Amino acid sequence: MQKFSKDWKPMNGAMQPLLPCGVPPLAALLDALRRERVPDATDPLRVGLFVQDTLASITLSDAPPGWIGLHALLNRPDTPAAVWRYILTHELLHSVVPPVVVNGKAIMHPPEFWAREQELAPERGAAWGWLWLNFHACLKKDTVRECVFVKPGWRRMMDGPRADMAQCRAVTADFVI
Ligand SMILES: [Zn+2]
Repeated sequence: MQKFSKDWKPMNGAMQPLLPCGVPPLAALLDALRRERVPDATDPLRVGLFVQDTLASITLSDAPPGWIGLHALLNRPDTPAAVWRYILTHELLHSVVPPVVVNGKAIMHPPEFWAREQELAPERGAAWGWLWLNFHACLKKDTVRECVFVKPGWRRMMDGPRADMAQCRAVTADFVI
């Protein structure tokens, strides 16, 4: 079981979530997704919005509750429901699908993880479409560390309009031959 994720550190040791800004009630959404999709996720978990290195993270410890951390970049009322649902489902799955060690390296997303995610989160493609379309300038996928980092310039993306899901679908459709 993952203890502390290698890419997530609480800011100054204080795990103080940011005040939500017009986002859905995340704790209630997490509980609903747990009941609906990942009922074997029995560890108590808190969820909050943080200024952190990665787009999302889960920190599990021997002394529950653990934390699911969501980047402050998402802290706007126009973050689509599909994005919240996908990211929370992904992090919930980390609490029930342990890493697999291959050649001495812990693989955080083994094939079983992706299979369960594909089965449980049909909004996955739409959510990633929205995330990359809106945040391509400040997201960096790190395949070695198996995470998506948020670059330091993310604060510039907190103002101004963002594409909604319908616009994302239209853009995606343009690329379908
Ligand atoms: Zn993950």
